[in-house]
Amino acid sequence: MITSHRPALSFVLTFAAVLLWAGLGSAVMAAEPAPTKFEMPFAATTKDEAQAWQKQVRAKLLEAVQSQEPRSTLEEVPLAVEVGPPEDKGTYTLSTVSFQANNKTAKRIAGLLAVPKKPGPLPGMICLHGHGGSAKHAFDAKGIYHGFADRFARGGYVVFAPSFGHRKYAAMVLWDLMRAVEVLQSRPEVDSTKMGVTGLSMGGEWAMLLAACDERMKAGVISGWMCSNEGILSVGNCPCWKMPGLLELADSAEINLLIAPRPVLFETAERDIYIPVAHSKQAYARLLAGYKVFGAEAAIQQDVFPGQHEWHGKLAYPMIDKILGGRAVDAE
Ligand SMILES: [Zn+2]
Repeated sequence: MITSHRPALSFVLTFAAVLLWAGLGSAVMAAEPAPTKFEMPFAATTKDEAQAWQKQVRAKLLEAVQSQEPRSTLEEVPLAVEVGPPEDKGTYTLSTVSFQANNKTAKRIAGLLAVPKKPGPLPGMICLHGHGGSAKHAFDAKGIYHGFADRFARGGYVVFAPSFGHRKYAAMVLWDLMRAVEVLQSRPEVDSTKMGVTGLSMGGEWAMLLAACDERMKAGVISGWMCSNEGILSVGNCPCWKMPGLLELADSAEINLLIAPRPVLFETAERDIYIPVAHSKQAYARLLAGYKVFGAEAAIQQDVFPGQHEWHGKLAYPMIDKILGGRAVDAE
């Protein structure tokens, strides 16, 4: 299904998206106690133990998703990618793209693909919207995403921003996230050894899950999401993050250790009403200690900034450029 990009509508929708997020955040239940025991907390003290932990926790995570949403192979349900006509955006072209969802009875998944007008092979980025958002918000400079997808595209990255609907559990989108990576890497312009992911809010959660489970992601920026269960529960949030099997497995923050030793950066705003900054900083200290066990403390960063629930980019653009080789930092 091909739809056109309508700037006038996108302005209204950006504000609607922010309001919807706020609605979801505040309409949910009050703070609740955090689980105190996990099935597989991170307790490794050597690299071997840490790698064994990763293998077991990743397998359990995939099993938990599988029990909610059985995975189809690409042979069973082909991607059947459809690309609309390219729209000129100056230094890049923007096309609507759709592909068949993992669940063949589900609607096709739409998205936006930006291809820089320069010779390839080029690095690739998956850019993910949050609650109530869609791909066009990721390109919109006026909203809470600050146009991160546009910025990466202008910085020489092939960008794919899929639009995902809300599911009972956010993690149920995992197979479709991996299918989005297939769409990106199938592009002839993309260097498939240089792909990364970023997302804000629920998009940060998806970015975490995708980077945790798909090693084709060489770097990740997780914005407005990384926190301990205790922190997330202390403010009340949409319950879609609490997938059975995953919730009991390990603290939400520790799922990020499945990304090690690959580079990861967390953005945390000081006035984020969904992700309490004090809890996020405490969780980061544990993740830094975890990355040290992998011998990879230089590959993890946190950008704590004076903002609200929004994308920042100050450390994220240079970090992604350094790892993947684009020039988003210069694309202001
Ligand atoms: Zn939700």
